[in-house]
Amino acid sequence: MTAKLIDGVALSKQLRGEVAQRAAALRARGITPGLAVILVGDNPASQVYVRNKVKACEDSGLHSVLEKYDASMTEAQLLARIDALNNDPSIHGILVQLPLPAHIDAHKVIEAISPAKDVDGFHVASAGALMVGQPGFWPCTPYGCMKMLESIHYDLKGKHAVVIGRSNIVGKPMALMLLGQNATVTICHSATRDLKTMTLQADVIVAAVGKRNVLTADMVKPGAVVIDVGMNRNDEGKLCGDVDFDGVKQVAGWITPVPGGVGPMTITMLLVNTLEAAERAAG
Ligand code: NAP
Repeated sequence: MTAKLIDGVALSKQLRGEVAQRAAALRARGITPGLAVILVGDNPASQVYVRNKVKACEDSGLHSVLEKYDASMTEAQLLARIDALNNDPSIHGILVQLPLPAHIDAHKVIEAISPAKDVDGFHVASAGALMVGQPGFWPCTPYGCMKMLESIHYDLKGKHAVVIGRSNIVGKPMALMLLGQNATVTICHSATRDLKTMTLQADVIVAAVGKRNVLTADMVKPGAVVIDVGMNRNDEGKLCGDVDFDGVKQVAGWITPVPGGVGPMTITMLLVNTLEAAERAAG
């Protein structure tokens, strides 16, 4: 079997087109959805990420403000900026690019963002809302994975989903979203004994580890859907995921590539969340 590809670039294009239309409708009412992105320090990867986010906003008709600060910025100064943005009606979403310098408590900073503007979905209030099935902002990466499953009309009800990884930003919210769609969910992590026994039972596998070849063809049930969140570099320095793509695509029914899979969907869902925040603020 050769798996069908779930193309994150094509799906992103479609969803960003819908965002642009909804943003235009809001602008016609005098409201331009606005995202503030805060970058502290000069982490090269973070600089690329924030540039991509700001560009994606502009391309979809959203207003974005990039605030760059020196690594010496104090926690109090950053909290004061967030307070100002919380009270700025032209800003509907606030994103603080992580990681922050070591002298700043990232948790404290995230908790300072108003839950109504928490478009990254990292606030405890957002996590709690997801947990109890109430409206709130979903973290962009697992939200993007759900959209990918939706795009292939995959019915999760009663299916066994195995999530590899339990981080607060990917693995745990991913598991809750799958559970919310009535999948039976298993969460695996670094202390899981015999990962292969788990994954071989799975109808859906989401790999969110950050290690190459965590999932190989012998670990996948024929026809399973495989979503690869991982972002790693191979020996040639090329971007690759957690999944042995060439091997697993021979067994899986559906698979996401890296690059061109979950990555573009993450930024797309940030746009969706920002637009949603603006729509909610507009009533
Ligand atoms: P993380 O916080 O480092 O979490 C990794 C998880 O993998 C942990 O729960 C860890 O278990 C588990 N793990 C480590 N080794 C394992 C093994 N051998 N078997 C099973 N589980 C294992 O990473 P993250 O932030 O969730 O990100 C995961 C990956 O996704 C990274 O490559 C990251 O770059 C990528 N990512 C991509 C996007 C995107 O837009 N495409 C967005 C976010 C993240 P313990 O909890 O026991 O340590």
